[in-house]
Amino acid sequence: MPRLALAAALAQTANVLRETGNRVLGIPELAGSLAGSRRPKKLRVRVVILRDEQGNAVATQTDVEPSLAEARRVLREQLAIELLPAAEPMVTTLEVPAPKGALDSPCAEGSWRADFGEGGAFFRRFAQRGPATGSGTPITVFVVRDVLGKAGCSLGPLVDHVTVDMTALTGRRLRVLAHELGHACGLPHSDSAENLMLPKAMGERLQPWQVAVFRSSRHVKYR
Ligand SMILES: [Zn+2]
Repeated sequence: MPRLALAAALAQTANVLRETGNRVLGIPELAGSLAGSRRPKKLRVRVVILRDEQGNAVATQTDVEPSLAEARRVLREQLAIELLPAAEPMVTTLEVPAPKGALDSPCAEGSWRADFGEGGAFFRRFAQRGPATGSGTPITVFVVRDVLGKAGCSLGPLVDHVTVDMTALTGRRLRVLAHELGHACGLPHSDSAENLMLPKAMGERLQPWQVAVFRSSRHVKYR
């Protein structure tokens, strides 16, 4: 097995163990949320904009603001979750150019293989880290040149980052960022009208079970 794939497989295995352990420990929290608890919680996020081969940023920090503001609003209103910076500033642009595998990022939904190349290695290197237990680990949002064939990508609990296509920061794709955070916090797609987890033309609603799963994710904490 090539070295990058081996490193990715080990990192993913560790994250599956973290996710499983935290989900088991989080059962009371899940039950509380299902019973209607909306005590305010926090999710720490960092948005990292990539630079292309010529050193040009694929988006400006101002470009990111509308979708970040929308994610902040939806999480507050639907989930009682406050979006906080994992590090200051919340939106940053990488100094070094990204490799092609990260700039034009493959996304086979639900496929661990998408993370096995140079893109996955690059994202892992620049993602915010959390404690060994995985509890409270921030989510890093990488703004890339192209999420191949999609507007954004999350491998769910396998990794601690998501990607958003630079063309998906405004307009009708404004909620892609919030949608990918939903995947990272354990939500699958939904076909319910107006739902945030609709694969296309996402709304902002979440059903009670989705709220409970999101709020009891290992990324979401009270402090
Ligand atoms: Zn999706």
